[in-house]
Amino acid sequence: MDCLFCKIVAGEIPSKKVYENEWVYAFEDIAPQAPFHVIIIPKEHIVSAAEISSKNSHLIAKVYEAVAQIAKENGLENGFRVVNNCGADGGQTVGHIHFHLLARRNLAWPPG
Ligand code: AMP
Ligand code: ZN
Repeated sequence: MDCLFCKIVAGEIPSKKVYENEWVYAFEDIAPQAPFHVIIIPKEHIVSAAEISSKNSHLIAKVYEAVAQIAKENGLENGFRVVNNCGADGGQTVGHIHFHLLARRNLAWPPG
């Protein structure tokens, strides 16, 4: 499948791994928007949040278990933000669902 993030999971495209388990892979964003910027993905290819159903929602739970674990391992006790862009208007540029974990700066709200 011609998917950038599936290729990263397969090791065909290099990435800086931050966390991995049976269901989830996390790696440093190549263009960080905060001092700490990690992308977390389910290893299984899901296009976007618009494709979540009772068949695959357990993988999103696994993503959030990884969020908590990565936050603990990296000392993000001051807080963080998780962002999931969906579709064209949502600013999604890679068609494999992913969650940005941003931290170590004061993040503006609303995001604009
Ligand atoms: P989005 O705009 O929400 O689809 O986010 C896609 C993210 O993937 C962006 O923050 C990119 O900087 C990041 N990205 C694209 N290619 C790579 C790559 N090869 N390695 C790490 N991050 C990447
Ligand atoms: Zn994929």
